[in-house]
Amino acid sequence: MEKKFLLLLIALGLLLFSSCTAQQEAERTPLLLISIDGLKPSDVNKTDTPVLDMLTANGTVAESMIPVFPSSTFPNHYSLATGLYTNSTGVISNTMFDPEMERWFRLSDRSAVGDGRWYGGEPIWVTAENNDIRTATMFWPGSEAEIQGVRPTRWLTYDGSIPYKSRADSIVTWLTLEDETRPDFLTLYFSRVDSEGHRHGAGADSVLSAITYVDNVLGYMIERLTEEGIWPNINVLITSDHGMVSLSHDHLIFIDDIIDLDDVNIINWSPVVMIQPREGKREQVYETLKAAEENYSVYFREDFPERFHFGAHPRVPEIIMLADISDDNYGWTITSKSFYERRGILGGTHGYDNMHPEMHGYFLAFGPDIKENKTIETFEVINIYEVMCKLLGIEPAPNDGDLEVLRPILR
Ligand code: AMP
Ligand code: ZN
Ligand code: ZN
Repeated sequence: MEKKFLLLLIALGLLLFSSCTAQQEAERTPLLLISIDGLKPSDVNKTDTPVLDMLTANGTVAESMIPVFPSSTFPNHYSLATGLYTNSTGVISNTMFDPEMERWFRLSDRSAVGDGRWYGGEPIWVTAENNDIRTATMFWPGSEAEIQGVRPTRWLTYDGSIPYKSRADSIVTWLTLEDETRPDFLTLYFSRVDSEGHRHGAGADSVLSAITYVDNVLGYMIERLTEEGIWPNINVLITSDHGMVSLSHDHLIFIDDIIDLDDVNIINWSPVVMIQPREGKREQVYETLKAAEENYSVYFREDFPERFHFGAHPRVPEIIMLADISDDNYGWTITSKSFYERRGILGGTHGYDNMHPEMHGYFLAFGPDIKENKTIETFEVINIYEVMCKLLGIEPAPNDGDLEVLRPILR
């Protein structure tokens, strides 16, 4: 009886092994990486998401995902793609100044966003292309730049006005290309959940409708992929880059009540205020901010806590002021009186301490190589690069992640 069982196991194992190698020879399972910008894991249960529910039941979902610091869009998408912390990517914010290049980086500046000098490390599409795997990006921070002399085979200049269904159609079109030209690594990006969070605050009705809308688009894409005979033979990772907290007029810090703005150059505003003091003002600016430290923390860059993996990059200016999230989950806003009078505040934002649960992102994996009906604990975003390389069967570039963290999601 026992022997019979053992033989059966071996036979099954051989069968699995031979089908695996045959499949590897025939074709690779494509990997689709999706970002739903600003999606909070806790919001998914607050609205109708039949597609995410179906994928959760048949895949692996994480309690939450810890972003890199700061918990904002460019740093996180690019750290996800490289497996590196901010110190090593140099993508320290959506807005940065590089003292060596003497250049600014802003999301609205196409030439900066497409300039490879801003992006350190090796993103997954470069690793893949170097291993003869075609890649195609329907938007991803960094994908418009030539990095280490390489770009995705297919990529697009970011255009937030492209309808979500057209983005999904492009994925279907790319996946139905002939064998040699078909990309086996693809990305897909949606910003609406984040935009509604900024406009109306964390968890607002419009945020929940945006989640349902994106879920709908995913359903449409899956239907089309099924018609083409591609679904479900594809591995899919659905991620978000950070969470969101609401802002309030009761949670304001006016920096010009504390220091003289003529003494500083502010590179980046709330919630991570990056301050370059003018010549001879370093100690005075720091001491003044330190003495008034309430609802924020202030540091010299070299004293910024190690756990943020942030302060060592030369793009980080000398003083960093980080706003708190209050006990009732409102984000404190650091602003100036004139800016506040002109522009007020947003409904919500992110960028705060990446360890704070309200800043955590979302992670779901589904596909032939992914375990079914499994939940994993909260983990750090820098571990995704390793598992993507594993899924594509390629050697990862040096990075800060550890394959063991996400190995449990693999079949
Ligand atoms: P955040 O300001 O951190 O909330 O960033 C979200 C915004 O980043 C989105 O609403 C887009 O406007 C912008 N964005 C996202 N991806 C890109 C990209 N690849 N290039 C330029 N801007 C982008
Ligand atoms: Zn974002
Ligand atoms: Zn945002």
